[in-house]
Amino acid sequence: MRVMPTGIFFHYQQGERLKDFPQALDGILEKENVFFYDALYLSKPKSCFDLEPIPIETLHKIHSPGMIDRVKATGDFEGALYSAAGTLSAAIKVWSGELLNAFVFTGYGDHHAGSNFFGGGCYLNGAAIAIHELQETFGAKRFAIIDTDAHHGNGTWELFENDPTVLYICFCSESSQEKNQNVNVHVPFKVKDSVYTALAKESFEKWVKPFQPEIIFWNWGYDGTIGEYGDIGLTLKFHLQMAMEIKKLAYEVCSGRLIIILCGGSRRDYANFLIPRIIRILVD
Ligand SMILES: [Zn+2]
Ligand SMILES: [Zn+2]
Repeated sequence: MRVMPTGIFFHYQQGERLKDFPQALDGILEKENVFFYDALYLSKPKSCFDLEPIPIETLHKIHSPGMIDRVKATGDFEGALYSAAGTLSAAIKVWSGELLNAFVFTGYGDHHAGSNFFGGGCYLNGAAIAIHELQETFGAKRFAIIDTDAHHGNGTWELFENDPTVLYICFCSESSQEKNQNVNVHVPFKVKDSVYTALAKESFEKWVKPFQPEIIFWNWGYDGTIGEYGDIGLTLKFHLQMAMEIKKLAYEVCSGRLIIILCGGSRRDYANFLIPRIIRILVD
């Protein structure tokens, strides 16, 4: 039986946290069931493909033209575009069966970007752009977004509060008015790994399994880790446990279709520890 590949979506970016990538993926890129998609990587290995930017018309289906102009004025537009392009491309390839699952490196995460606002290092909402495309072009009907970044995903919340086809579960210590399938899961400050994991498993039973999404997006941030800017008391190990739980969940409800979007977190040592391990969980 052929093993369906995992896709890794990458673009080179400035800044500290991902400085050691893609080299830090040592040994992963050579695996037969790993495909690497990259915008600007110069010496491409055999399993490496180009990453295409997103056309402006596609961006305008989620974000107002005025907001796109404001993002352009920040000087970070290209990085934001390739971040979202990774998520869009991953979603299409996972949906069409070219890939089983995917990990998207983003320079700029997406959950603070709404229809007409952005902030907190998020400029474009990649998950929303991808979901819209799967709805419009591919006829996909039910989606889940699991958000375990330490902060409240106000952008994703706004974009989906009137869309009953998207289950958005936001784990954090803030909340918004719940509507349709937008759900707050209150995470205490500080929290033990075991308490958070139990909360997650409970919400998967209560919300995700009955909803039966056809594909799962995981907004994964490690900014809640001890020593990070959003420290809520989590250990590094917590993220690996969560990756295993969510992978298992994806197999149970949607044939393994899972896209991990890198969100918050700033430390380079944590990125080097966590990202290769999380990708290996996807691959193995
Ligand atoms: Zn965050
Ligand atoms: Zn939240």
